[in-house]
Parts: sequence; structure tokens; C-alpha cells
Amino acid sequence: MELNTRAVHVINEPFTEGSWPLSVPLVQSSAFAFESADELAGAMAGPDGRYVYGRRGNPTVRALERTLAGLEGGAGAIAFASGMGAISGVLLALLRPGDRVVAQRCLYGGTHAVLADLAERYGVEVVRISGDDPAELAAAAVHPATRVLVLETIANPTGQVPDLPGLLAAARALGVTSLVDNSLASPVLCRPLELGADIVVHSTTKYLSGHSDVLGGAAVFADDELRLRVWPRTVELGACADPFAAWLTLRGIPTLPLRMREHCANAAALAELLAGHPAVTAVHHPWRPDHPSYAMARKVLAGGGGLLSFELAGGREAGRAFIERVRVARLALSLGGVETLVTHPASTSHRELDEGELAAAGIGAGLVRMSVGIEDAGDLWADVEQALA
Ligand SMILES: *Cc1c(COP(=O)(O)O)cnc(C)c1O
Repeated sequence: MELNTRAVHVINEPFTEGSWPLSVPLVQSSAFAFESADELAGAMAGPDGRYVYGRRGNPTVRALERTLAGLEGGAGAIAFASGMGAISGVLLALLRPGDRVVAQRCLYGGTHAVLADLAERYGVEVVRISGDDPAELAAAAVHPATRVLVLETIANPTGQVPDLPGLLAAARALGVTSLVDNSLASPVLCRPLELGADIVVHSTTKYLSGHSDVLGGAAVFADDELRLRVWPRTVELGACADPFAAWLTLRGIPTLPLRMREHCANAAALAELLAGHPAVTAVHHPWRPDHPSYAMARKVLAGGGGLLSFELAGGREAGRAFIERVRVARLALSLGGVETLVTHPASTSHRELDEGELAAAGIGAGLVRMSVGIEDAGDLWADVEQALA
């Protein structure tokens, strides 16, 4: 079935004899009772048997895992407490001291921090590549212990779309496990497993749940053998999804395709208007022909996504003033929810950096990031215009 049908018909097991609850039940229990010792012992074998204890599995969490596997076209999934739980859990499960990771240079800050920590404290070597050229991966993977390739479908705040088909094919040929963070695209805009990825990770906090009311993460696996290898490590780590968080995420998923359509349309409309405004010197959105990833975006994405960034001629002061003057959009750090959010990295998340360091990170002093919501596009533009004025 098509993705918008799969999103509405989330996986739901029969709950009582003879009929199904239409919505997935919230099973808010940390443990499950058995009749016999043998049955309990037998249920401890793996992730797919009877429910034993919440860290090893829960019916609501399993419904989310199966739904996400269905949306991404994977063999199975593991749900986590957050996107960072998923990223840390998968990397810790796959890597040992002496291994090499090849990572796209422009990655989510939390992923950068995990990789830096793995390098500094656990002896994992991290090699950076641009993400635009599969030859860079081949060169980095001459090291025999090259284990994992880390990419993002749409990077933030630049909107870079790496050469997913080229890099994922190269990783497969080289025997390197590929991991793609698909949080910004969601399975509506891209399904990296269909392009050859081994693992897709999500911050379900963002578009999948979509309402800024829950933290969550997930890893979806192309191959079930890999999921079964990662699962015991994640049970040890304990960054498991809570049933209520899983339930809230499932509550968001049926409207994901509708929401993504609005996020993409509003972001494209705002990007066009911003590009024509005299206070704006550059607009970064992968659906625009002047974006460096335009050709790749049109090839691998079904839409440009809801995240855009733009640079203000007035620099640092103008960026700070803008985020404090918007009235419909809100000043907040997250993204992917129904409401429009703005941040100004130079005066918030990256305020410790001077102009030179900001430039090296590819962030202009006047750069504003906008997670475009599903409000009326005219109201959003009126708000942006008054804040720019
Ligand atoms: C937010 C985000 C994360 C981290 O997810 P949390 O749910 O906040 O832990 C990871 N990757 C990307 C691309 C994100 O936007």
C-alpha cells in the first residue's frame, strides 16, 4: 500500500477476542505476569516473543516499532527514549576501540558530540567527508576497520542533501554499515533503506510525532540480523521508549503525510518571498535551484522539507532582533512540529563562537533558522515581514 495508507493503518494487534480497538491501546505497565517459570524464562530469549519487562518490550512500543519499520520499508525497528538514544545506542552497539567511522561533516550537533566522545575516550577514529563524493568514502575506507558511515538525509541548517545513492552503494560494496539520520525528511520525503542504507535513525520528537509534545527516537533496520545484534546492547543501555511516549508518537503518525505536504509548501513559499526581500542576502532550502544540493534533492526527495535558513544583511544584531520580534513564529530550539519556530545560532546555540569560528562552521552571523509549521502561509509571511521591518 501507499505510504499515506500505511501511516493511517498503524500496526495494531487484536486486543480482545473477536474485535480490535481502532486506536493502539496504551499499555502502561513496566512488567508482565506469567503462569509458569518456563514460560517466563522462554520469553527472555529475544525482542519478538512475549512481553516480560518494559525495557525489553511493550505492546504499545512494539506497535510503534512495527509501524516505523513499515513506513521506512525495513525488516524491523527499535524504539528509543530520544533521537540521541537511538544514535548513541546504535553506534555503541556497532563500534569497538580501533574502529573507524566515516561521517558527513555537516551533522546534527548531538551526533557530532557523540562521535567526538567516541574518538576521545573510546579510541574510535572519526574521518570526515563532505558527503558529495563517493570517492571520499572509498579513500577513507582503505582502513580495514572502517565499520560505519554516518549521513543525514537533509542536514541542518545548511539543507545539504548528500549523494545518498552513490555513498550508500559504495558503503555496501566496501562492507561498511551505513546509518542515515532521516529526521528532517521523514519517510514521506525519503526512505533511505530503499536507496541502500542499512540503518535509518529518527528523532521521532520531530516530524513523526509532529506536535512538540513528546521526545522519542528509533532505529529501523534493512536486515533483521542487524536488529537482533543491536537489540541486546540497547537493552543494556536502557534508553528505551516509554509506552506513553510511543503512544503519543503513534497518535501523530496518521497525519504525517498531510503535515509534510503543508510544511514543504509553506517553506517553499516563504523561501521564495525571503529571497526577494532586500534585508535578506541568501536563502538556504534544497528545493531552490540556487542551492548546491538542488539536483540531488530533486533526485532523492519527494519535497524540500520544512526547514529553511536565511542570512540577514544586518548580521548578528539583525538576527537577534528578528527572533525576538516574530509574533506568530516562536523562539524555540526544536523543529518538525505544527508550529513555526525560529532560532539564531550566532546568539543562541553557537554564541561562544567568534565570527571566524562561525564562518568555519558554515554559519553566518546573521543566519536565522526557521522550522516552518502548518499555519496559514499568508499569516507567516506577514509575521516575517513585520519582524524584518
Ligand atoms: C533533534 C535531532 C536529533 C536528536 O533527537 P532528540 O530526540 O532531541 O534526542 C538527532 N538528529 C537530528 C537530525 C535532529 O534534528
